Amino acid sequence: MESSLYIVATPIGNLNDISMRAIETLKTVDYIVCEDTRHSKKLLNFYGINKKLIAIHQHNEKNKANEILHLCEKGHSIAYISDAGTPAISDPGAFLVNSFLEAKQKVISIPGASAMVSAFSIAGIIDHHFQFYGFLPNSQKKAKEQLLEVYKSNKTTIIYESPNRVISTMHEILNIFGEQHTIVIARELTKMYESVKKDSVNTLIQFYEKNSEQVKGEFVLIITPSNLQLEEGEEKILNALKIILQELPLSQSVRLVAAIFNKNKKEVYNLALRLKND
Ligand code: SAM
Repeated sequence: MESSLYIVATPIGNLNDISMRAIETLKTVDYIVCEDTRHSKKLLNFYGINKKLIAIHQHNEKNKANEILHLCEKGHSIAYISDAGTPAISDPGAFLVNSFLEAKQKVISIPGASAMVSAFSIAGIIDHHFQFYGFLPNSQKKAKEQLLEVYKSNKTTIIYESPNRVISTMHEILNIFGEQHTIVIARELTKMYESVKKDSVNTLIQFYEKNSEQVKGEFVLIITPSNLQLEEGEEKILNALKIILQELPLSQSVRLVAAIFNKNKKEVYNLALRLKND
């Protein structure tokens, strides 16, 4: 096996969500680097993999990264796994990868599950653009500042959230975006209580406040664009689109509204997408 660093994605819940190439890589490398050896041992035992594990976490990342780089320079192959999903996505790994890249050592991706991609793929977001914020800062003030930044950006935004904070974050979204703003909540993906809900933030707050037994597990929140920055006349176009879209398909509505307002079809199409996402 090539003496490289293999960044290997592991499941985000369902242990069958791992690629054959990932298992093959984990079986073949000389060392597996992980966040928490006890956690990763359980996963590796499940696949019948018994390997020497090296733990790397935020407190020893710099020293360990050098050690791991030296192992590779001596000809060893190394896999890196995080506790769940794709490493370096709201998880450690980026520092190690960067050390390898700076030393001109080969880094190979073994792709697989990631909660953000899984959530986005079942959220029905028609506009393909999105930004990923990961976890909001712990400080309430900084978290609010980031949500305001999201609001101003007018882009679909994916965030990770814990069960302790998910309701208060939804309240903050309601305060900034308005109670009718559409969000998506993907919970416990690939697990027994998997659910995806797309509704106004107000409705979803009421749902989770009533069903507190469902405020458990892991959450991805997707905030649809804020519909800010309406230029002069756009309000009228949006209103017309709202009415016509109730009767006609998207492309026909766009064609008609563009003709009525003497506008470029692409511009009207973008406005229609905003409406669909809202
Ligand atoms: N590296 C991981 C990835 O690729 O998605 C993310 C790790 S981050 C430390 C953990 C957070 O990801 C959780 O708090 C939750 O917001 C999200 N997450 C992880 N697994 C999930 C799942 N099965 N369902 C919903 N969200 C999940």
